[in-house]
Amino acid sequence: MTNVQQNLEQIQQRMQNACDRGNRKLEDITLIAVTKEVSVSRTNEVIENGIRHLGENRPEGLQKKLDAISNDVGWHYIGSLQTRKVKSVINHINFLHSLDRMSLADEIEKRATSTKDCFVQVNVSQEESKHGLAFEEVEAFIDQLQNHKRIRVIGLMTMAPNTEDNTIIRNVFRRLKQLQSKIAAKQIAGAPCTELSMGMSGDYEIAIEEGATFIRVGTALVGKEREGIV
Ligand SMILES: *Cc1c(COP(=O)(O)O)cnc(C)c1O
Repeated sequence: MTNVQQNLEQIQQRMQNACDRGNRKLEDITLIAVTKEVSVSRTNEVIENGIRHLGENRPEGLQKKLDAISNDVGWHYIGSLQTRKVKSVINHINFLHSLDRMSLADEIEKRATSTKDCFVQVNVSQEESKHGLAFEEVEAFIDQLQNHKRIRVIGLMTMAPNTEDNTIIRNVFRRLKQLQSKIAAKQIAGAPCTELSMGMSGDYEIAIEEGATFIRVGTALVGKEREGIV
C-alpha cells in the first residue's frame, strides 16, 4: 500500500488543479480523510501528515478511533445514522453529513448537548440505493427545522451516482450547488447553508470545479484494509 504522504501530495496537486480550473481557492476546501476502512495506525499516519478532519460512517468504527486517538481532530459522521444510535454518536462528532429525516432531527434535538453542524443529505440522482431527501423535499425540510435549536444546517451533502459518465456526475453536483445557493439566499435562522459536502476519491476534482467546500476522500488517500482490523 502506498504511503499516505505520497497519496496526499498527489491529491493536493489535483485539488489545486481543480481549483485553477474552477476559479476556486484551495483554502476554501476542506479535505476530510475517510478512515472507515482502515486501522487506527493508518489513521494516525493521516494525522501525522497534517490532516485534521476525519470521516467515519459507523458508530463502532467511530468509537474505535475515538478511543485510540487523542489528537485534536474534527470528526465527521458521513454514514446513514440510525435514530437509536444518535445518543452514542452525536456528542462525539463535530459534523453530521447525513441529516435526512425529521425523526433523526428530533432525536438530535433531544440528545445533543450543544448545537451541531449538520449537512442535509440530498439524493440528487434519485438512486434507490442511496439515502437522502429527494431534491424537491429539501427546502420544506429545512424550513421545518426552525425550532430545532441544536441543529445548524451548514450545508448540503450528496453522493454522486454510480456511473462512469462525468457529465452526469457534474450535473448532480451543479444541481446541488444551485439548491444550496438558493437556500443560503433565504438567510434562514439556524440554516446558513453555505457549505457543500460533495466529491469522493473518484470525483472530487469535478466536485471542486462545481463548488464543493468539503470533499470526503477515502481510498485514494488511505487505501483499503481488511475489515475488522485494529
Ligand atoms: C466511503 C465514503 C466516502 C469515501 O469514499 P472513497 O471512494 O473511498 O473516497 C465518502 N463519502 C461517503 C458518504 C462514504 O460512505
